[in-house]
Amino acid sequence: AKPIVAIVGRPNVGKSTLFNKLVGQRLSIVEDTPGVTRDRIYATCEWQDRQFLLVDTGGIEPDSDAGLLGHIRRQAELAIETAQCIIFVTDIRGGVTASDEDIARLLMRSGKPVVLAVNKCDSLGEPPMELYDFYALGIGEPHPVSSVHGHGTGDLLEEVCSHL
Ligand code: GDP
Ligand code: MG
Repeated sequence: AKPIVAIVGRPNVGKSTLFNKLVGQRLSIVEDTPGVTRDRIYATCEWQDRQFLLVDTGGIEPDSDAGLLGHIRRQAELAIETAQCIIFVTDIRGGVTASDEDIARLLMRSGKPVVLAVNKCDSLGEPPMELYDFYALGIGEPHPVSSVHGHGTGDLLEEVCSHL
């Protein structure tokens, strides 16, 4: 069986966009507004002879704060149960949020390998200073990526594959 790599993160950070970029096809629906119904989507991803099953765990994301915490917890637990490696996606524009810290705690407690992606780093060159704020999550090295442009996905996949 192929190893499973799960993408987790709070709504609107760009999980589905990253999923699509890594898979190379527009398989999951990307919406400008959070809260649109989306199903969990699986696809085979290939990178330098390595094959794995990539899962976008976003699913149906709540459009208000009311159900957010429960949703995020279930999503992280699903990833912890099923995946060999977890890609935790955050957003450079919003900085580190309380939801990010909550997800980080759950993931760290699981002992599963977690690769931290800081998305929406769209400009090439030196990463923004804000990138270093993400060390505070305690996950380790934050990987700057732009899921829209595809910047940084090679380094991200390299670390993911090192855990498979
Ligand atoms: P999800 O809710 O985490 O699955 O997030 P989506 O993939 O649906 O993306 C949410 C919004 O962020 C959409 O408007 C995307 O176009 C935008 N987005 C995603 N990745 C990037 C990125 O790398 N750069 C920029 N500028 N916008 C992005
Ligand atoms: Mg999504």
